[in-house]
Amino acid sequence: MDEINVSSFIKKWLASKNIEKLYINGRWEETKSKKRIKVKNPATNEVIAEVGSASKVDVEAAIYAARNAFDSGEWSKSSAYERSSLLNKVADKIEAHLNEFVEIETLNNGKTLKESKGDVEGAVATFRYYAAIIIGATGETLQVGEPFVSKVVREPIGVCGQIIPWNYPLLMAAWKLAPALAAGNTCILKPSEVTPLTSIRLFEILETLSLPPGVINLVNGTGNNAGQPLVESNEVDKIAFTGGTETGKKIMQHSVGNLKKVSLELGGKSANVIFADADYETALDHATFAIFNNSGEVCSAGSRLLVQKSIYEQFVKDLIVATKKIKVGNGFKQGSQMGPLVNEQQLKKVKAYIDIGKQEATLACGGNQLIGEGYEKGNFIEPTIFIDVDPRARIAQEEIFGPVLTVIPFETEAEAIKIANDSPYGLAAGIFTDDGSKAERVSTALRVGVTWINTYEQNLIEGPWGGYKESGIGRELGTYGLEEYMEVKQMINTLKVEPTNWFTHENE
Ligand code: NAD
Repeated sequence: MDEINVSSFIKKWLASKNIEKLYINGRWEETKSKKRIKVKNPATNEVIAEVGSASKVDVEAAIYAARNAFDSGEWSKSSAYERSSLLNKVADKIEAHLNEFVEIETLNNGKTLKESKGDVEGAVATFRYYAAIIIGATGETLQVGEPFVSKVVREPIGVCGQIIPWNYPLLMAAWKLAPALAAGNTCILKPSEVTPLTSIRLFEILETLSLPPGVINLVNGTGNNAGQPLVESNEVDKIAFTGGTETGKKIMQHSVGNLKKVSLELGGKSANVIFADADYETALDHATFAIFNNSGEVCSAGSRLLVQKSIYEQFVKDLIVATKKIKVGNGFKQGSQMGPLVNEQQLKKVKAYIDIGKQEATLACGGNQLIGEGYEKGNFIEPTIFIDVDPRARIAQEEIFGPVLTVIPFETEAEAIKIANDSPYGLAAGIFTDDGSKAERVSTALRVGVTWINTYEQNLIEGPWGGYKESGIGRELGTYGLEEYMEVKQMINTLKVEPTNWFTHENE
């Protein structure tokens, strides 16, 4: 293992017993299959742990536990105050173990320590946010006219299967668990088989908080063996999924058995539109951040940079200078600004897109895997820019999910909107301009779930997150995210108890 700054606690923890187990019904359990998945450090490709690989039988045990826990009502009918207090304790505990989570995330995902710290703080904030808003959750009474009284209440949906990707492992776990638990559901979390480690540590911490058995369950394993049985089960009432669009489509197909609720947070190919009147330095800074933070492994990455023609040439020159300064390295190393890609498969995919790009456009910088001192065995790649890209080119249409930027020139506002909307995805977009009305017009015209004006990648817990078109169904975060974990029930009562006499009278 690359041992740059990995604490002795983490080294011991990686060899501990829970790593190989699943958390089912309040206990750490061996997988029935006894199979293991090798987990690697992306900076070295060395195996750092072997985690349990759940089979269908294990997943069914977790579903059974979650079903019983939900039906018992101990958690699902507990007071909002009780649930809120638990979520605050989760936040306190993560905060108390912040450095551990940061190290584990960097070791498993490859992102820099600074990026991991941002994620862990985001997870803490998510638990605190849902702890706060569940206290104030209310129903409604409708003014329907006598003799009827109608009230609307919200109830938890039931057993929730939550399937998450590898790019923000702990943060995605928090985005799923916090609102679901706040609403009173029971959960089965299925982390990515590539990055299961922070979820395991999170469940060790949750275990100390004495939740009723079965309320939270953790099944590590592959999409086919651990994910699909969750999706197909008629005992699961909701699937909340974050991941690739193709997987999302499969999940919709496999979930039809009991018409369970499905929410999907999927891929993107977000446009970042720079108008000539924008604050130049700010736009330049955000343009590099938008694509190269988290090594470009971000669903809402600003991977299509649209630049107005009058500043195009200079902007591209300055962008290349700024990009060449980005320090790529092991996430643990002081001074590293961009870590490796998550695994060899992702590296291969990104390199294949770079080869496609070379046929389709002009490679302006980067494009190479980084090898040599400090990079020997890891999945390091240079931040890469293609310029003069045709908006219909594959590298401008398909999600690469790596540090590869496509730059597209445009002349007019209308043309920028047309290019930005010409995508099967609709997750997010950035707009840089000094003209407030123009910003508002473009923001309104874009078919995306989130727009950022003169900023990029600000994920506010208080607001809805999710996509139009093939970027997903439903919303996370904010009160919108809570609603996704609640059923709505209308309860109609009458002030006059009387028969309808519908069938006892002659037809008039
Ligand atoms: P992925 O779709 O390969 O895997 C995501 C999860 O689904 C993993 O846990 C995987 O094991 C599981 N899975 C795979 N096949 C399955 C199946 N048949 N049934 C059930 N579960 C299955 O995605 P990934 O490569 O881990 O993550 C990258 C993708 O996630 C990108 O497309 C990215 O845009 C997207 N993403 C979206 C958001 C968002 O908020 N919209 C956030 C993060 C990542």
